[in-house]
Amino acid sequence: MSNSLLQTPIEYLKGVGPQRGELLRKELGIHRYEDLVNFYPNRYIDRTRYYKINELQKNDSEVQIIGKIIHIKTVEFGKAKKRLVATFVDETGEIELTWFQGHKWIRDSLKLNVPYVIFGKVASFGNTFNMAHPEMELLAEHEQSLRSAMQPVYPSTETLTNRGISNRVVNKMMQQLFVETQAKFIETLPAYLLDELKLIPKNAALFNIHFPKSQELLSKAQFRLKFEELFFIQLQLITKNLVRKHKIKGHPFTVVGENFNNFFQNHLPFELTNAQKKVLKEIRNDMGTNAQMNRLLQGDVGSGKTIVALMAMLIALDNGFQSCLMAPTEILANQHFNGLTELAKGLNINIKILTGSTKTADRKIIHEELENGSLHILIGTHALLEDKVQFHNLGLAIIDEQHRFGVEQRSKLWQKNDIPPHILVMTATPIPRTLAMSLYGDLDISVIDELPPGRKPIQTVHRYDSNRLKVWKFIKDEIAKGRQIYIVYPLIQESETMDYKDLMDGYESISRDFPLPQYSISIVHGKMKPADKDAEMKRFAEGKTNIMVATTVIEVGVNIPNASVMIIESAERFGLSQLHQLRGRVGRGAEQSYCILMTSFKLSSDSKVRLETMCQTNDGFEIAEVDLKLRGPGDIMGKQQSGVLQLQIADLVKDRDILMVARNEALKLLKKDPSMTLPEHQTLRTVFIELSKKKNIWNYIS
Ligand code: ADP
Ligand code: MG
Repeated sequence: MSNSLLQTPIEYLKGVGPQRGELLRKELGIHRYEDLVNFYPNRYIDRTRYYKINELQKNDSEVQIIGKIIHIKTVEFGKAKKRLVATFVDETGEIELTWFQGHKWIRDSLKLNVPYVIFGKVASFGNTFNMAHPEMELLAEHEQSLRSAMQPVYPSTETLTNRGISNRVVNKMMQQLFVETQAKFIETLPAYLLDELKLIPKNAALFNIHFPKSQELLSKAQFRLKFEELFFIQLQLITKNLVRKHKIKGHPFTVVGENFNNFFQNHLPFELTNAQKKVLKEIRNDMGTNAQMNRLLQGDVGSGKTIVALMAMLIALDNGFQSCLMAPTEILANQHFNGLTELAKGLNINIKILTGSTKTADRKIIHEELENGSLHILIGTHALLEDKVQFHNLGLAIIDEQHRFGVEQRSKLWQKNDIPPHILVMTATPIPRTLAMSLYGDLDISVIDELPPGRKPIQTVHRYDSNRLKVWKFIKDEIAKGRQIYIVYPLIQESETMDYKDLMDGYESISRDFPLPQYSISIVHGKMKPADKDAEMKRFAEGKTNIMVATTVIEVGVNIPNASVMIIESAERFGLSQLHQLRGRVGRGAEQSYCILMTSFKLSSDSKVRLETMCQTNDGFEIAEVDLKLRGPGDIMGKQQSGVLQLQIADLVKDRDILMVARNEALKLLKKDPSMTLPEHQTLRTVFIELSKKKNIWNYIS
């Protein structure tokens, strides 16, 4: 069996030997045959395409062309230096081929007026194209060669290249390895999975990752190997998670009763999107078991998380439990309170709000009602975490915008009870943080990946401060149509005073340009008393003012469908996810919405990328990807989670779809066969145990 053969030290491979073996170990961590098989190319050169000479462009990387040499000459240059120059033509034009070394031998071997396939990098000098040291092959031979059309390029290091281990050499080693092992590798996945997901067998996958026969087979090989990698990680994580879940009991919500059904049948203000239904089902399933739910609900701004939250709380209520919803700011808590009260107005339930500014008298009532169980749903801020707040029986805690609450705070909610409430964390910040979390197994994930119907995509543009007059004119036109406008200023904690000054200066000049009585302006910032803030928000929400000048306090959650223009001042100072969040404040109604990013002329290259990204896409996932590239995964994942996940072939960001499939399959498998002892899981189990020894999940993370 090739299994033990794969454990052979790499220097025993023909053509490697002790010296190269040492290099491979040191530079690439390749110790055994097995490591070499699992050393995958990081890109491929496409040799399926043939270029015509008139299609060549400056900066074309590597291309291949079919044509003939019609002329060869030796050109002298410098002191006693020569180069060989050939004129190569096809029916569309001509290019020069050059050689600086080995003239005689090459000159002798080249044939005139015979079809060749040439391959190499093109450079351009003026109007002529040139290819230095091309790979040459007679067309007749080319057609018969078995070489893969897609040529693998392996990761390398400077030392390796300097010591002669070129890509070609690695390629040769790989060929040798496939010869020695007869390309027989153990199938690691059960047959029914291969069937179900149409995965190609392990042998075929490894063969095609190194020697792809076609683009199609390469894609299949990549898919299979990525799936496998993520699948085994998920098996590890979920196994760990199951252990955790067995320890942490939860309240089983077994009934879906009166309140839920009444709401669903009689008070639903719109039809739920399929994504909302799907997510609700996942939540229901979780809460139906006697293990604690720990779920993350992820959905872009405006995707409709609020109603999902309410319906989950109704399930809790139908099972005789209380719920709470915690928001990071008072404005948001208020907004949730108003929104949920409105949604639930046909139902006979008691919803209240508790924040830092709740009056003592009201507070007392809330405390009482909480303890005697007559208060069903409590919305609030951090105030919910105070010791005095004692629930009669908290069954579900929903946390909005999780990045503002730490894990400790989350657990503070339930340390008060014996059996913890189910936890639902809602966030509009998509991956990568959350993806990493799924890898931690800390939370299960639900995604609302669909916006309610009828939304028009927000149009985003970038304008320099010097164009402000035009922007103001645009705003006036929009206001004349009855729309409302946000103008947001950055607020960065360290320079709060300066930011405050920017905001107030801005407010003054806006007030001058948009004078009363024709226009009225609201302002909201962090230095205001909560009551004043709310009053201003309310005026704007009710349409009494046209413009809302604000700092980022309005960043999350605020919902005013009539506001259709978001102007972000000093947009270069905001991070991508923040810009996206801010933009999400508009585009909530039926009207066309706009986001205008105002900046000075001084822009760093990163700022430019951020602005361009914003103008190009509304997709939060795409934006998160760019963010990941700009900031690096360590930064995004936060300090305690720093360190990149060391994956061999899968990419957590790009392959999130495969990750989800892998996760689902792993869940299904472990549900059916938690200890992986069924006959069809025999090999899987062996591989799993070996892998867990060698690559414990924590190794991926550090
Ligand atoms: P977010 O996910 O950002 O919290 P919200 O829950 O605030 O989104 O919903 C955004 C807006 O979309 C709200 O005005 C809400 O009433 C509306 N909405 C939510 N779901 C639907 C739906 N299925 N059909 C139509 N409108 C919806
Ligand atoms: Mg929301």
